[in-house]
Amino acid sequence: MALARRFPGALAMALARPFPGALAMALRAGGRGARLGSEPRDAGDSPRHRDLREALRKIIDKEINPFVDKWEEEGQFPAHKVFKILGQAGFLGVDKPTEYGGMGLDFSYNIAVAEELGNIRCGGIPMAIGVQAGMATPALTRFGSHELKKQFLIPTIAGDFVACLGISEPGAGSDVANTKACVCLSHDSGINDLLRTKVHDIKTTAVRKGDEYVINGAKMWITSGSQADWMCLLANTSEGPPHRNKSLMCLPMNLPGIHVAKKIDKLGMRSSDTAQIFFEDVRVPCKNVIGEEGKGFTYQMLQFQEERLWGVATALTQMETIIQETIEYTRQRKVFGQPVLHNQSVHFRLAELATELELLRSLLHRAVALYVEGNDVTKFASMAKLKAGRLTREVTDSCLQFWGGMGFTSEVLVSRFYSIL
Ligand SMILES: Cc1cc2nc3c(=O)[nH]c(=O)nc-3n(C[C@H](O)[C@H](O)[C@H](O)COP(=O)(O)OP(=O)(O)OC[C@H]3O[C@@H](n4cnc5c(N)ncnc54)[C@H](O)[C@@H]3O)c2cc1C
Repeated sequence: MALARRFPGALAMALARPFPGALAMALRAGGRGARLGSEPRDAGDSPRHRDLREALRKIIDKEINPFVDKWEEEGQFPAHKVFKILGQAGFLGVDKPTEYGGMGLDFSYNIAVAEELGNIRCGGIPMAIGVQAGMATPALTRFGSHELKKQFLIPTIAGDFVACLGISEPGAGSDVANTKACVCLSHDSGINDLLRTKVHDIKTTAVRKGDEYVINGAKMWITSGSQADWMCLLANTSEGPPHRNKSLMCLPMNLPGIHVAKKIDKLGMRSSDTAQIFFEDVRVPCKNVIGEEGKGFTYQMLQFQEERLWGVATALTQMETIIQETIEYTRQRKVFGQPVLHNQSVHFRLAELATELELLRSLLHRAVALYVEGNDVTKFASMAKLKAGRLTREVTDSCLQFWGGMGFTSEVLVSRFYSIL
């Protein structure tokens, strides 16, 4: 203020303002139209991207958000019902070939969908949709035979099948190359037995017998595992080096020998079912292998670029919503005779978080643009995921504090996102 007093006119006004331009207006203004980030942003924000988002938003508002609290309470959302609605509208195959029922658009449209899915008022449903559209199907789309795509991809894009991705095991999570089938456990094993199991004790195998593989082992943390019609399974198909002995295959989930153990009770994302799955002499035709035998790890690593970017995109919208709802709440909540928002320290923090969010958005869209041009973006995708992981914790923690006691209740979105992001 002292500085501002020494400079007359516009400059003084600019200096006197805690925040310049649009950001200050967004923080000050009320209600609609003031949402942070509603300005045109980048190449991934063309009229066509916006139309796609708008159409998806209508489905979210009508078919998903009104039921989210109920599904969170019940511990499962009806994946077949929700996916059918999304599939019919084309949202499960935005970047998939039209030949298989997709829209044939580039990956930036997938990211637009992922950003919009962040408007679902929980974490489990966007994650399950992400598994269906962006994690269980990319390898099949790129490397699968026409027959496999007809059998698994078409109904998955249409929303007739629910898909799951079987990578993680009790002893293999971060370290994917260590994925081995788990012969030492049975489907009676409890979660503690699983977690006590040492990496060298476990192995998931698909052993070739004639024109079939015989699968034994276990998968853990499988999103949509209880409801899935098929799994994109990563299993060891030979004894070779860990990066070259794995294959991806399409595994129908109704085969004899597949046991879906009890759902895992979780801290958050409660409406998404997360299952432990055991395989006992499960026989699957060799033609169900995706692409070349032994290339499963490589295919999976390729897919991880998309998975990381997808996760960042969804988290961006979730964070944006939290900041926006915090602005609205603190504007109307009066403490010591004035709205909480009118304290400059609150302004500072929210502005800083909003700025970080926009920086992350820039990194995301830079990575997406490079990816669409055909570049390997493993580095940028990993950086973006790292930053998103850190920032989600900062945003939810900081914002939750501004809600006072209300932030500690289950009534508000900020507490739900605090537990999942
Ligand atoms: C809700 C939910 C849904 C999931 N859905 C699926 C799914 O659909 N399909 C699927 O295959 N998997 C799924 N997963 C599994 C998820 O991918 C794994 O949890 C993740 O890969 C981490 O593996 P982990 O749990 O075994 O952790 P661990 O590998 O045991 O890691 C434990 C900790 O060690 C840290 N760590 C690892 N390496 C290092 C290192 N070198 N230095 C320092 N620290 C390190 C990790 O960051 C982590 O904090 C899901 C998990 C959850 C919670």
